[in-house]
Amino acid sequence: MRKYGKEIVIGFVPVFILFLQFAIGINMMPFILFACIAGGLLFMAKSRGHLATVGGDRKSKTSVPRQMTFEEIGGQDHAKQELREALDFLVHVEQISKFGIRPLKGILLTGPPGTGKTLLAKAAAGYTDSVYLGASGSEFVEMYVGVGASRIRDLFKEARQKAEKQGKNSAVIFIDEIDVIGGKRDGGQQREYDQTLNQLLTELDGIHTTDSPRILLIGATNRKEMLDSALLRPGRFDRHIAVDLPDKKGRAHILHLHARNKPLDGDEVNLEKIAEESYGFSGAQLESVMNEAAIYAMREDGETISQRHLSMAIDKVMMGERTDREATNEERERVALHELGHAIAAELVRPGSVSQVALLPRGGALGYVRHNPQQDKYLYTKQFLEGQIMIALGGAAAEEMFYGERSTGSRGDFDQAMSIVRSMVESGLTELGIIDASMMTPDKWAAVNGSILNDLMQDVKMLLEANRGVFLSALDVLIQEETLSGDQFRSLLQQFSTEQPLLAQ
Ligand code: ATP
Repeated sequence: MRKYGKEIVIGFVPVFILFLQFAIGINMMPFILFACIAGGLLFMAKSRGHLATVGGDRKSKTSVPRQMTFEEIGGQDHAKQELREALDFLVHVEQISKFGIRPLKGILLTGPPGTGKTLLAKAAAGYTDSVYLGASGSEFVEMYVGVGASRIRDLFKEARQKAEKQGKNSAVIFIDEIDVIGGKRDGGQQREYDQTLNQLLTELDGIHTTDSPRILLIGATNRKEMLDSALLRPGRFDRHIAVDLPDKKGRAHILHLHARNKPLDGDEVNLEKIAEESYGFSGAQLESVMNEAAIYAMREDGETISQRHLSMAIDKVMMGERTDREATNEERERVALHELGHAIAAELVRPGSVSQVALLPRGGALGYVRHNPQQDKYLYTKQFLEGQIMIALGGAAAEEMFYGERSTGSRGDFDQAMSIVRSMVESGLTELGIIDASMMTPDKWAAVNGSILNDLMQDVKMLLEANRGVFLSALDVLIQEETLSGDQFRSLLQQFSTEQPLLAQ
């Protein structure tokens, strides 16, 4: 009887409705309409929920065809070490229960986009021989209250089922952009978000040492400060691991990893040099550099990837694709003088720092100067920052020198200069001394910006004025050649400069 319950109900309900409508004479249309709408909504919500988890499943299946290892992740030595130590809790289960240690439930990876957080989560699954399920915080966001929560429930359920099916003792659930669902609860307006987060907390609290399969939740965010404190407290996300942009050694490691399946010109290519030039790049950007270099080599029908291809790929990743924007001759001359202004200022402030001066439209710019960071820096002195501002103002100063007025081409430079002033003020490096920048009025900001930028503009103008000869001799070469390498530019500077380098930083 129980076995056929569903069929009996399906058969009985229509007959009963027909009976009420025609035998008794009750108008059943409003009820039927209401039932259809409710059924439709339920179906939509269910199918979306299903899609989300199936999507997560599909993603995890296709993205982890085999177990990934920590060796396949470049740089991030510290993050890998910390993660491995945390994962040992999952590996050495007997010892954990012998010492009565509560299980590690969640690990939070924080850092900028493209630094390898997803890779670390996949490697964690490989290291602990767990099944891996990946999802993104935005997949749980729905306009219907309760859907996000049910998807969280489904995700944990699916992880357990999948682990059991594959005969594994544990499962790693990775939720990227966890700040979307784990943001601070405001206790009212965003009920759907609150319910989703509450469900996540409930699932975390339901994880016990004796569970089999055991679940480990790994969350990733680049906005840790946005997360609700309930999620961050011990017993929930127990470990917080920073996954920062790679340093020079890390960048070289990542480049070598992504070069493994590519034909490099072995005699000529120097990936350490590329690592030096790609200061501030994330792992994803470095992967893109290797990929773009391979595309350039293929387009030229070459056999191997050369240093030139890699250098062009850095420009592309940094500045965007070359555009076909046709500038007039006057514009080209102005842009050339502007870029020479930046380059001369850069070489005098920081000798050897120019890597390339280019008069090529790329991204939103008509020309650019690529700088060679000499070494990764984490602390900046006032003198260093003032030098950076002078380099940024060099373009506008050169335009003033030769045309008597500036153009809109300096907008980005001024934004950069003002952001440096902001960080100087916040770090107590200005004449205002140590202050709380949030208490500064707009007038005060305008005054401090004006005074610092005007003084440094005068300094850079004097510097460039003393090098008028370099502008005049390099201008024609740059317009003709379109690019000058750092060495080419330096030899012109040496030939025609009357000025000694300012600071040797
Ligand atoms: P997001 O926060 O945007 O999700 P993420 O930190 O999770 O980014 P991943 O998805 O792990 O970044 O990395 C994207 C791609 O960049 C990887 O598939 C890989 O090709 C490359 N990559 C990033 N970091 C590294 C690394 N440390 N070593 C090797 N490759 C890396």
